[in-house]
Amino acid sequence: MERITVTINGNQYQALKGSTILKAAEANNIHIPTMCYEEGLSIPGCCRMCVVEVKGARKLLAACTTPVTEGMEIQTESDRVVEARKDILRLYLASHDLRCLTCERNGDCRLQDYCYRYKVEDTPYRGEQKKYPVDISNPFFFRDYSKCIMCGKCVRVCAEINGAYVYDFMEKGFDSKVTSAFDDPNQETACTFCGMCVQVCPVAALVEKSVMWAGRPWEMQKVKTTCPYCGVGCQLKLKVKDGRIIGVAKDKSGSNLGHLCVKGQFGWEYVHSPDRLTRPLLRKNGKLEPVSWEDAYNHIARRLSSIRDQYGGQALAGLSSAKCTNEENYLFQKFMRTLIHTNNVDHCARL
Ligand code: SF4
Ligand code: SF4
Ligand code: SF4
Repeated sequence: MERITVTINGNQYQALKGSTILKAAEANNIHIPTMCYEEGLSIPGCCRMCVVEVKGARKLLAACTTPVTEGMEIQTESDRVVEARKDILRLYLASHDLRCLTCERNGDCRLQDYCYRYKVEDTPYRGEQKKYPVDISNPFFFRDYSKCIMCGKCVRVCAEINGAYVYDFMEKGFDSKVTSAFDDPNQETACTFCGMCVQVCPVAALVEKSVMWAGRPWEMQKVKTTCPYCGVGCQLKLKVKDGRIIGVAKDKSGSNLGHLCVKGQFGWEYVHSPDRLTRPLLRKNGKLEPVSWEDAYNHIARRLSSIRDQYGGQALAGLSSAKCTNEENYLFQKFMRTLIHTNNVDHCARL
């Protein structure tokens, strides 16, 4: 791809022709703050946090929507830029339910991070404040509109990636808010509980219930793993505290690009269930009794061989699982065909 030369903060860099100022800066390790921008979603350019100063331009320009041009001279942290960002933050704070002390996103919140970065401690824009009831209607996450900064990322991810179109902007001016149709509780919408909106929310307006009072973000280990539910193999990061899973964070390195469905996002509680089998059980005289792995395998081998020898391989069928790896599924069908002598092999994905 063709490259052009731009100057950012007095230094010359190469940038891909046609890329935005934001992408060109990121590619050269220059961080421009954003609130409404999310990789992979459409770009509304509405929050104005990413404004930069471009030589010759009368107004500050949004870095997420402005393409770079040959010889462009950009200032990402000039006094004018910083003052504009400070004012945007002060406006956010004017209608924000600022209770960082016990907020679940304390330490992992863009509003907090940027206020710290630009030394914004308070707001001069005092006035009426909206206090909305928290929507706790669904089993997996809550919505706290009083903390919403209306970046619109939940609206776009739900529509553009999931296709569920649960959220949109409602009302106008001071009364505007992001919510579902008719302001219905989330449980009564078309929500599939994929949790993508929770993952993109930059503040604590959307938070998993499982992390409530479970630990501070900096106390959680993030353990990268593969979702065990189906053959897609989505990548995710488990939030782990004191050896226990308390939530799931996105991991963008896999084919799922950080997006999950309800199973990968919220279906992990079984991991700590006391009802899980920890050793093989064999039914003896109508009652399940614990046995060793060796006894269990010997029993399975004996029964399979005797059925095959007495009735033929067609009397048996093998049902495998999407939770196994490709290699395990390959071995399973090989085992059924070559040792059990049947092609009756199927898979739970066809349920
Ligand atoms: S969302 Fe962020 S700024 Fe708001 S209370 Fe929570 S940590 Fe503080
Ligand atoms: S959980 Fe998924 S489907 Fe439900 S509102 Fe959020 S993005 Fe939309
Ligand atoms: S709920 Fe979160 S993601 Fe949605 S508009 Fe509000 S701040 Fe943005």
